[in-house]
Amino acid sequence: MSQLSQFFAQNQFCVLIEYLTSLKETYPVTTSFAGFPSVMTLADRVHTDNDLAPLDAVKGYPDEIDKLLHFAGKGRDIAEFKQFLHQAEAQSLHNLLLLTGDKLKQHQDGEGGVSRTRYLESVNAVMAAKQHGGFCIGVAFNPFKYTEAEIDAQYFKLHKKIKAGADFIISQLGYDMAALQQLQTFLQQHCYSQKLLACVMPLSLARAKFMLQQQVAGIVITPQMIKLLEQEKAAGLSERVYARCALQILICQHLGFAGVHLSACHKPEEQQLLQSYIEQYRNLDLASCQQMWHTLWQDQAGERFRPIVQQYAQQVSLGQIVKYQQLHLMHDTVFNSKLGRGIGHMIFNRGFWNKKPAAKALLKTELLSKHSVVGCDNCGQCRLADTLYICPETCPKGLANGPCGGTSLDRCEFGDRECIHSVKARLAKAVQQTDVLKAQLIEAVPVEVRGSSSWKNWYLQDEPHH
Ligand code: SF4
Repeated sequence: MSQLSQFFAQNQFCVLIEYLTSLKETYPVTTSFAGFPSVMTLADRVHTDNDLAPLDAVKGYPDEIDKLLHFAGKGRDIAEFKQFLHQAEAQSLHNLLLLTGDKLKQHQDGEGGVSRTRYLESVNAVMAAKQHGGFCIGVAFNPFKYTEAEIDAQYFKLHKKIKAGADFIISQLGYDMAALQQLQTFLQQHCYSQKLLACVMPLSLARAKFMLQQQVAGIVITPQMIKLLEQEKAAGLSERVYARCALQILICQHLGFAGVHLSACHKPEEQQLLQSYIEQYRNLDLASCQQMWHTLWQDQAGERFRPIVQQYAQQVSLGQIVKYQQLHLMHDTVFNSKLGRGIGHMIFNRGFWNKKPAAKALLKTELLSKHSVVGCDNCGQCRLADTLYICPETCPKGLANGPCGGTSLDRCEFGDRECIHSVKARLAKAVQQTDVLKAQLIEAVPVEVRGSSSWKNWYLQDEPHH
């Protein structure tokens, strides 16, 4: 059992301290932080797509320090992840944080003959890690969402992550404590026993400005927050950054979180400052910490942390509902009924379809008939029935199980469309199919299946040689 699992089992509040693998020097790591047990975490490709892999970076740190390795699915497939699991096991690394990851900086959209960048979904990674066994599995969750569909889509997916086998949840970095508590309430209401940790960071003006200007995926920094930080800096009160971080950590402890994931605080002088504030406030009760938190943010109602939501209410159109119903009926008749399966099997169980021209013609027919209707991209493993007939390939990351954390007010992280998972969440409510989005774990598409006919694969899926 890893030390982290033991802290969880013994309900010991712990601090996971993040170290980027792109750091030029190796900083000292400890097993305790402000009196709390601590674990080091190594992030995966945060600065660049070519940062040192966490599996290699661990070699620079002492063996006796327990470590949590991040694995981001960006630019990876399931086979690579399974290999990673074997390597982690061989190095006795048992704590994993499995993420889909933000947009790869060198993302390729598949245009002009280049191959499209693929993203291994966190849900699929959790399923594989669980199946492998022996890991303490963490997932990320972003509670800082501010439209109904976006919130629903996040929580639907969280059900799946838990069903797939997550042991603990680390929130996105954020300052809206009401949203964090909503996440905690969700877990309690559903009797989920997964441990909850909050990601925290001493938010300096420079970091806040960087995140706002760069629009770092999924992180909500508002102009009102920047304004306060600017005023503080001008008044020589920048140390309040650490006072607030200490308070956030202590509030999480009082609320019963299992710990925090501390980002951007790897330098000894930063850690000392933060620890000194934790010491200073350690004996305050929850109400006093919260009071002080609000006072330091000069905000009683949490308004400062919430983006301005435009008054637009996206509705599900009648056309979308009718399309869903028609496709659902067709799917049931052609692919699910006994007769449909029998006929399909009879047609495709012929050697003829293995001949190149026939296979090519079949693929083209499938694409022609489905692309204009649902945006099909010939993935070879049709998942439409589990995605309310909204093709997962129309998500730039190709996510089928739900959204990543990077959306902003229903907009896709890529900025060029509405998030398909928000569209799906809205439709699911309208046609009363939310259970499909919460419970149906959709398998990853192996690379070798892509570019083959999903029709043929569907009808022959029980055949030993296909
Ligand atoms: S899930 Fe795959 S086969 Fe189905 S419509 Fe989308 S790309 Fe085509």
